[in-house]
Amino acid sequence: MKKFMRTAVIVLMIISLLGVSSCSMIKDKLFPGQEETYTLPEEETGPVTIPEKGCSIEFPKRRPYEYEMDLTLDTEANTVGGHVVIKFYNDSSDTWKELCLRDYPSLFDKADVYAKQSKSGGGITEIINVKDSRTGDLKVRRDDGDASVVWLNLDEELNPGKFMTLSYDFKTMIPNNADRFGFSNDIYNVTNFYPILAEYVDGEWSHAGYFTVGECFYSEISDYKVRLTVPDGYNVASTGETKDISRNDGNQKYTFEAPYVRDFVFCASKVFANESREVAGVKVNVFYNNDNPPGKDMTEVIDVAFASAETSFKAFGEAFGKYPYSELDIIITPIAAGGMEYPNLIIITDYVCSKHMSQFYPYDLLEIITCHEIAHQWFMGIVGSNSGIEPWLDESMASYSELVFYEYIGGDRERYQTEGFSRKDASIVSKWKDNDKLDQAFSEFKSDSDYTMRIYADGKAVLYQMEEILGREKFHGIIRGYVRRNAFKNANTKDFLKALYDCAGKDNDELNKLVEKVFRTKI
Ligand SMILES: [Zn+2]
Repeated sequence: MKKFMRTAVIVLMIISLLGVSSCSMIKDKLFPGQEETYTLPEEETGPVTIPEKGCSIEFPKRRPYEYEMDLTLDTEANTVGGHVVIKFYNDSSDTWKELCLRDYPSLFDKADVYAKQSKSGGGITEIINVKDSRTGDLKVRRDDGDASVVWLNLDEELNPGKFMTLSYDFKTMIPNNADRFGFSNDIYNVTNFYPILAEYVDGEWSHAGYFTVGECFYSEISDYKVRLTVPDGYNVASTGETKDISRNDGNQKYTFEAPYVRDFVFCASKVFANESREVAGVKVNVFYNNDNPPGKDMTEVIDVAFASAETSFKAFGEAFGKYPYSELDIIITPIAAGGMEYPNLIIITDYVCSKHMSQFYPYDLLEIITCHEIAHQWFMGIVGSNSGIEPWLDESMASYSELVFYEYIGGDRERYQTEGFSRKDASIVSKWKDNDKLDQAFSEFKSDSDYTMRIYADGKAVLYQMEEILGREKFHGIIRGYVRRNAFKNANTKDFLKALYDCAGKDNDELNKLVEKVFRTKI
């Protein structure tokens, strides 16, 4: 995941030192019948150029997939489930004989090796009534090696460009666990909770293994329409916008719409208070536990959260292109990691809500985690990537974005944060051995700490040192070019290097040395 591990490590160190325990933009698109063939819009293939500072990021012409979900959160049984309809088309040039869904909650089963993550365990997700609109019932087959991988053999192949509708009912256990998927202190973090269509890339369904210090989530841009029933008194934050709340028979039914996102998540609690402010043109909603507030002075905590969001939207909007969505929810909740990112929603751990939980400045851990997770709206949300296979594309970029945030603030704040990452402090070219590479899969790192150090700290330094070589304006512009070219698609290291070389040229010796040192990908 991103978990924001570097900060998490620092926070955990501090904790041990202190002895503290730890849009309405969806149109009513009619999905065409299966006889029609969808042709993908032509891709831009020429050289990447630098867009103007603060450019807008347009929603794509390509038709998004569609998820329609009727869900119920049962807080007695601690389950979430319901009916899901996915409308999609084959966006590859291969004929699909099977589909792959990812069902991450099944890894929290008591009997599973991942059960150690959970205090009270989850369970294998029940997936029933699986139907292909063209042929009827489909059988569910779980992968022998990974319970989160669900295969569906199609009775009728799906040819390139052809449409189909898949529907199913599911119910999954929510573990009692203070983490990205789980409930704790009356707050439910319901993320990566429904079986989601995997990505089909390079001739196969991608199904990289789940891991706890990072993430493997990888999915297609989709429009979501979600109806969620929760008990009366529950306040819900989610991806997208709340369109309606109705009450009936001791329950509330929320209606959400979320256009052009890769996933849908929600957090729900009867103890949530929330405050909303418009910052930098985005409606930001901060949710926190009002019965047992995470900080002594919640006015200060909330102000820091809004101020961090405002600076993030301004700094990243200028550097990477403007945030294209209308809302962002910030959820302050108990999770073991520092933070976690989802489309239009970020989770911040509640243990940084003290002015004393800081590195250089009161509340700066809250600030830095907030800006890191907001940066993921660009690097994961807008530009997707396979975070299990090339984790640097979201985590190193989000870690470097922390420096972009402090560059925007300037002065001592910038100096404190950039110290240690520059070429004069720790040149990556001198420090790294020849076989140390940034563009490795999670599984290739020697250990969790090797992954964390390389992807979060060194990856941040790699990008900062590129900025030093090329100049701040130019490097931000190159990232903007990379974002605009790859917005709402899934990018890889080659796409980044193409943007870099198209905009910076290939005759900068210092840049070439750094790129050669850290990337095994060649273009
Ligand atoms: Zn991250």
